[in-house]
Amino acid sequence: MGKVRKSQDALDGIIPYDPKYLPARVLLSANENPNSVPAVVEEEILAGLKGFAFNRYPDPLANELRDLIAERENKAFEAAGVDVRFSRENVLVGNAGDELLFDFSLAWGGPGRTLLNVVPTFSVYAANSELTGTRVVEVPRCADYSIDEEAVIARVAQGDIDQVVITSPNNPTGDAVSEGFMQRLLAATDALVMLDEAYIEFAEGSLAHLIAEHENLLVLRTFSKAYSCAGVRLGYILAQPSVITEFIKVRQPYSVDAISQLVGRAVVRHSDAFVPGIQAIKSERALILEALRALPGVEAYDSCANFILVRIPGADKVWEALYERGILVRDFSHSKGLENCLRLTVGTAAENQELLAALREIVK
Ligand SMILES: *Cc1c(COP(=O)(O)O)cnc(C)c1O
Repeated sequence: MGKVRKSQDALDGIIPYDPKYLPARVLLSANENPNSVPAVVEEEILAGLKGFAFNRYPDPLANELRDLIAERENKAFEAAGVDVRFSRENVLVGNAGDELLFDFSLAWGGPGRTLLNVVPTFSVYAANSELTGTRVVEVPRCADYSIDEEAVIARVAQGDIDQVVITSPNNPTGDAVSEGFMQRLLAATDALVMLDEAYIEFAEGSLAHLIAEHENLLVLRTFSKAYSCAGVRLGYILAQPSVITEFIKVRQPYSVDAISQLVGRAVVRHSDAFVPGIQAIKSERALILEALRALPGVEAYDSCANFILVRIPGADKVWEALYERGILVRDFSHSKGLENCLRLTVGTAAENQELLAALREIVK
């Protein structure tokens, strides 16, 4: 016949997600860790690959990795003095955060259901809602990009919201949510609230302990940012077992391959080895913020993550001038609510110096 009939109507007009990745010498656009995994992690992975059973299907639920993640959380709870204990039933591993975000739309979204989205934020939430036929209600952030807490609480109180996403620290604005607000939100609704903590290692502390008192809380984490594994595709959710069970119903049974599980185990066993690198990024973040604020006409927002949002006159021209110098940053200047904004990922000290030198030259 030579012809194919049309795809489902829901795909009409959908534009595929574009991370705007371009080849460049200095990559400061995707919030990756500027360094790969520490040597001790690499050694464990290489040793595990020797004689690896490539012919066997992986453990569908990655139970060994779930156990290690639960154990790591329990250590963090203990260190923070909170009386909460997790087991593997509180953890589900996925093909990075992206898969788990899609599962969130499959399990709690869908036709006739509604997501509350606090914008501007990560564009993947709305994209998944569109694909699954989920209605999206937007609550805009305040002028300084902090969450309009009263507006969110008032909106969930109407009772029609099935799912909420709160991103902390938020991408691309960098602000973190307060525990008090999360407590209020979780008490005000029975919607499932996804707290996306993709960047939590760069902030002051996780709110995962709230899961113990709130069945409607789900926390998302990833190996892609602080843990240097964007190329591997690993992430997980933390929640009460009743919520995890619903995610298991919609997930792809073998989405987390055996090599990724091996990498994940090595990373979690040696999480401590990542701490100096995370500390370095936090110190660099403070230095960059100070330097940015000394530039004329540049507004730089506080950040609890490994990136900084800046507002800069003629941002798209500035983006081009940086790219001509081999530096790739993320241009949000054409996104709603982010006019003239660029997002700068914190890189190595040398990369950050190069970025700042280029910006000084460009804004002059
Ligand atoms: C990067 C990111 C994720 C997850 O990314 P994966 O690489 O798919 O794990 C989730 N949420 C936010 C806000 C992010 O920026």
